[in-house]
Amino acid sequence: MINLTSELENVRTVAIAGHVKPDGDCIGSCLGMYLYLTTCFPDVQTDVFLGKIAPEYGFLKGVDQIRHEIDGAGPYDVFISLDSSDKERLGAAGELFDTAKKTICIDHHVSNQGFAQVNYIVPDASSTSELVFEVIGEENVTREMAEAIYTGIASDTGVFQYSCTSSRTMKIAGILMDKGIDFSWIVDETFYKKTYLQNQILGRALMESMLLLDGKCIVSGFRKKDMDFYHVGPLDFEGIVNQLRLTEGVEVAVFLYESGNQEFKVSMRSKSQVDVSEIAVYFGGGGHVRAAGCTMQGTMFDVINNLTPHIEKQLKRKVEQE
Ligand code: AMP
Ligand code: MN
Ligand code: MN
Repeated sequence: MINLTSELENVRTVAIAGHVKPDGDCIGSCLGMYLYLTTCFPDVQTDVFLGKIAPEYGFLKGVDQIRHEIDGAGPYDVFISLDSSDKERLGAAGELFDTAKKTICIDHHVSNQGFAQVNYIVPDASSTSELVFEVIGEENVTREMAEAIYTGIASDTGVFQYSCTSSRTMKIAGILMDKGIDFSWIVDETFYKKTYLQNQILGRALMESMLLLDGKCIVSGFRKKDMDFYHVGPLDFEGIVNQLRLTEGVEVAVFLYESGNQEFKVSMRSKSQVDVSEIAVYFGGGGHVRAAGCTMQGTMFDVINNLTPHIEKQLKRKVEQE
């Protein structure tokens, strides 16, 4: 466990940042930490850097303080990396990491090798937000911090449902509830709510999905031209891969979208047999055993053809073990 009070002794400036394309856990953990430092360490100048924030997180306190550009910032005494499995995933904020006097990393990705000077990496934790709660300490958590942390935990656990959820996660959720947050509203607002358009493209993704490997793998995706046609971007695809994963008989769900010319961002989810993190790491990405991602080159079919042998190999390995 990290003792932030001692790490921040004689420190005047702190930068907080998470991974590119921030998800609920990344936003929740960064804002939870930001609110803690600005509340309990008012003499320290704290800045938080994140990419574009989806509108459903707009209610969280501190969202309007998030800096989206690095320009002219730093060097900082301390840089805190949250929910990022490696330095590259920090994107532009990586520059602030390089120039900081001290670097701290708090994360829960199995693929994280401990890239900072001080590392607190717990692969068994449901989310980075859960670790931020532990670091802050129950007694220091305000209602606003609780909102951010609860949002992050709910996001990475699929509302306390995925196997990363532990009894400790539930206990923390209970403590956060007791801080007076509107937990059912938060879950509706940040997890379940979809715009009409988002529901339409979810429908299209399900309709166009293909079953491979004897129905054990389901794949769907969007090419650039489809994204342009519907006027949708990466933030609108949240949740699609989880819906695909629910398909009966499926072990692995893959969702991909064209993130550049002949380049696809791949999201993978598994139920109980396949370690998708292993596959994502092989292709230069990372993540968790049951949820991982990477970026791959080629056409949509090149990408699918390159991925499926890895999934098949693991499914076969599992059968042999049984
Ligand atoms: P996603 O499929 O993008 O929702 O990501 C699932 C999990 O894998 C999250 O914990 C991500 O942080 C992680 N992840 C996704 N893409 C990458 C990548 N390119 N490199 C490392 N980790 C990733
Ligand atoms: Mn994340
Ligand atoms: Mn996370």
